[in-house]
Amino acid sequence: MAEEPISDFGFRISDFKLEGGSQPAIRNPKSEIRNLFASVFRELKPRTTRPDFDIQFRPFADVNHTIRLREGRVVARLSDLLQGAPPPVWEALAFILLCKLYRRPVPACHEARYRRFLGRKEVRRQVELVRQARGRKHLDPPQGAVYNLERIFQELNARFFHGLLGMPVLGWSRSRSRTMLGHFDSAHNTITISRLFDSQAAPRYVLEYLMYHEMLHLRYPVVHCAGRRRVHPAEFQRDEQLFPRYQEVRRALKALQLQ
Ligand SMILES: [Zn+2]
Repeated sequence: MAEEPISDFGFRISDFKLEGGSQPAIRNPKSEIRNLFASVFRELKPRTTRPDFDIQFRPFADVNHTIRLREGRVVARLSDLLQGAPPPVWEALAFILLCKLYRRPVPACHEARYRRFLGRKEVRRQVELVRQARGRKHLDPPQGAVYNLERIFQELNARFFHGLLGMPVLGWSRSRSRTMLGHFDSAHNTITISRLFDSQAAPRYVLEYLMYHEMLHLRYPVVHCAGRRRVHPAEFQRDEQLFPRYQEVRRALKALQLQ
């Protein structure tokens, strides 16, 4: 009986517009949802020893969920916006998360059910309120018209960081900003890329460079030294110049901002 390899990776679903609702509260959501994850696991992997499940709702600023395997346990953190959702929606979410964790395709019926729930008007309104109240900035989903930011992040992560960087929430800005090309927000753990680059006219390597720069912020956090804040410390700047065609990219960006 094969055990799942122990790994420690996380992922987020950040592109769902939330839902909410006035569902009746479930008496013991914690044990109910644990049982639900366990039964979905059994369905997906009937021949594998069932791991322990640590499932908790968290007051994330958006409809985010994370799941990971840690020391043989499945650890999931779910947006509390889903706490009042009806059990079939939890079940759909359990399928989505466990399929992602075990790299299986998500059954279309569960994906659809979950999205339908999030698409409800009252749910969307609640999500909006939570976003405002919890101070979350709006990001458009990582899948753009031309480029997918999560795919680019993963490719760069493998190419330059040995795949070691945890993926933050990635998204496109709403406007095609020329002044804010890319931005890493450590408070919200987000990388925003200007919508300007989600275009056939934007060379992929320039977009990759922007993402690479923001990823270096993950790699090298801000240094506080003698009361000064160094956002781009020396190691950051050294690594930045390792990017292929670095000078060419810088010139392309400068030209773009001068347009
Ligand atoms: Zn920077």
